[in-house]
Amino acid sequence: MTKFSDLSLDPKVLKAIDEAGYETPTPIQAGAIPPALEGRDVLGIAQTGTGKTASFTLPMITLLGKGRARARMPRSLVLAPTRELAAQVAENFDTYTKHMKLTKALLIGGVSFKEQEALIDKGVDVLIATPGRLLDHFERGKLLLTGVQIMVVDEADRMLDMGFIPDIERIFSLTPFTRQTLFFSATMAPEIERITNTFLSAPAKVEVARQATASERIAQNVCIFEGAKRDRSGTRKRALLRKLIDAEGDNVDNAVIFCNRKSDVDIVSKSLKKYGYDAAPIHGDLDQSQRNRTLDEFREGKIKFLVASDVAARGLDVPSVTHVFNFDVPTHAEDYVHRIGRTGRAGRDGKAVMISEPRDDKNLAAIEALLQKEIPRLENPLADEPEEQTKEPRNSRSKSRSDDRPKAAADAAPEGQPKRNPRSSKSRKRGGSPADQVAESNKGRGVIVGMGDHMPSFIAMSFDERRAAGL
Ligand code: AMP
Repeated sequence: MTKFSDLSLDPKVLKAIDEAGYETPTPIQAGAIPPALEGRDVLGIAQTGTGKTASFTLPMITLLGKGRARARMPRSLVLAPTRELAAQVAENFDTYTKHMKLTKALLIGGVSFKEQEALIDKGVDVLIATPGRLLDHFERGKLLLTGVQIMVVDEADRMLDMGFIPDIERIFSLTPFTRQTLFFSATMAPEIERITNTFLSAPAKVEVARQATASERIAQNVCIFEGAKRDRSGTRKRALLRKLIDAEGDNVDNAVIFCNRKSDVDIVSKSLKKYGYDAAPIHGDLDQSQRNRTLDEFREGKIKFLVASDVAARGLDVPSVTHVFNFDVPTHAEDYVHRIGRTGRAGRDGKAVMISEPRDDKNLAAIEALLQKEIPRLENPLADEPEEQTKEPRNSRSKSRSDDRPKAAADAAPEGQPKRNPRSSKSRKRGGSPADQVAESNKGRGVIVGMGDHMPSFIAMSFDERRAAGL
């Protein structure tokens, strides 16, 4: 077995690795570090959780240890698809360079340009950036990429999903032709293949076992949820989630709960909180400082349940997540692998439980095809409980009902017109159910009976209000 000391890394880097508690290199590290140290291009096909960040950071800092930073001309560049992932790389960089004098700048959205420019002006060895922010800086004329000797592209498949490939191509063309490129992707989609053929020169190809096989430590289950009456489906699905969490008992130290939609991230998080679970949401619409705060609290154990969207959870590096719950089946099979890879990290066991509805059958089948195995079915613990028993409490139900609408629908909904009908909007803020709101806005207009909570609010609108709302 390869040892770190066999890898020709800088002794100061070896010291930092030792202090981080790493004993042996992971396969991607053993495969990628030697060619990278020789100055060769590397194409790494590896998922998150395999130790890929260290596989490019360690050789990079060893090579950079030999030179000095110049003003405005970073010597190396790491591109990551999301702020979280970029911040994660920066943290790794700090850990591994703690005995060296290398400088870095992190260029991500949500942080002031001024602060970042001041760092670049002084000169940095490593620039870690998201593609958009990097190009913003470039266009402001404060940054030259002609000094880049080593360029890393991390999670290229995610860049592709997020539409960053044109930005990446542009950035490649702004760096010197002679640069060394270390390129990482979990999968090799044709577009990724094209980029690597264009911009990498005779790369050493290092492919490690897919997370699907690497993650045999993760016990997986799927619970088939047959749905419920249309208007109760969300409520009942959240009740099922709670049952599934409870069924894990004390084994749950902490968990990431994934939803497909941002609106559901908020709803599920609120609902869990209402039931006394220590939960917080994280998704792309929350501002950066809030996302960082939530992530820190989750890492420190102050939050037990992190309800997340795929993008927000990228790069989430918490070595000891015991559980992943998939509230929804992801639409891309690879996302399933990424999601469950939040648990079972760094040699620990993990558990992943997913809820699947009949409409998810196709996506579930694609996941199982990717894993090349069937995910064991879990009996639905709610199957014998009549729907009435899974109702959320009266006040919370009415609250979550008004929250339940997907964001787009909420934005388009007529009651989102506080100027014309302040009373009904006020009652919505207080958490009144649609029926309550309708009753409120209906005062003096005659009463509509017989629809209970199911009354669509537009019915109660005046002709003018409906016309103004385009109904
Ligand atoms: P990554 O795939 O880069 O996101 O890394 C996954 C996790 O493994 C991180 O928490 C790293 O700190 C950890 N790690 C990386 N390399 C090693 C190693 N050689 N031994 C033990 N843990 C490691």
